[in-house]
Amino acid sequence: MAFVSMTHLLKEAKKDGYAVGQFNINGELWVQAILRAAERLKSPVILASSDRIVDYLGGFKTIVQMVRSLTDEMKITVPVVLHLDHGQTVERCIAAIDAGYSSVMYDGSSLPIAENILNTKKVTDYAHKKFVSVEAEVGSVGGMEDGLIGGIKYADLEECKRLVKEANVDALAAALGSVHGKYQGEPVLGFPEMNAISEAVQIPLVLHGASGIPLNQLKKAIQFGHAKININTECNLAFRKTLQETLVENPDIFEPRALLLPSMMAIQNVVEEKMREFDSVNRV
Ligand SMILES: [Zn+2]
Repeated sequence: MAFVSMTHLLKEAKKDGYAVGQFNINGELWVQAILRAAERLKSPVILASSDRIVDYLGGFKTIVQMVRSLTDEMKITVPVVLHLDHGQTVERCIAAIDAGYSSVMYDGSSLPIAENILNTKKVTDYAHKKFVSVEAEVGSVGGMEDGLIGGIKYADLEECKRLVKEANVDALAAALGSVHGKYQGEPVLGFPEMNAISEAVQIPLVLHGASGIPLNQLKKAIQFGHAKININTECNLAFRKTLQETLVENPDIFEPRALLLPSMMAIQNVVEEKMREFDSVNRV
């Protein structure tokens, strides 16, 4: 089945008060685990590759072929989006689209707003001709992602309004206190700001760095316009923990399949748990 853009999926989710999960892939194991969870729970799903690890994963074309083949082999019937997470340049977003991604994020959040808008618009102009959806970011999500450390900077309401209007994006990541990676203590999201931005821009919001945010705050974020929630760290922590246990419990096993299957199952369990929390189960 062909990949779908996330525009329609997110509109439906926002209208009906749930969120579609974005789960980052860190290898073939993740793709199988995420697809299996989505099909089992009849949930739409967004598989994403973070731009920073695209080369590690074998490049855009390899990723497209891998996800497409597995979708076919596994007879997946639920809607699948293949999304570029934190696209670093306009050229990278275009390369992903040309390779077959059905959605891209252009992350110009570290640039001055005028430049962020200009570049994002270049991406949307190209993407929309090919029915590919575009996400953009304002403000900055804190913490570490793929080796980069940054502080939290709240998204500015006026900048959000300008970017959505001028660059015509389909979804907006407005940074409001979330952090990539592990949280130190209880996360604090800016709900009044979130509500104001959601009311002003109307389009679905995207929550980055959602691993570790308590369920009550996730539910509130969905209420306040978030229709896409990104999960990466929690899957990776489950992978690591299970692999460690398997290694310790089975000191003589060296067959990779035997070592890695429990970790794949652990990723699938996290994805299923998140889909239930986001209430995206039985939506297709
Ligand atoms: Zn992110």
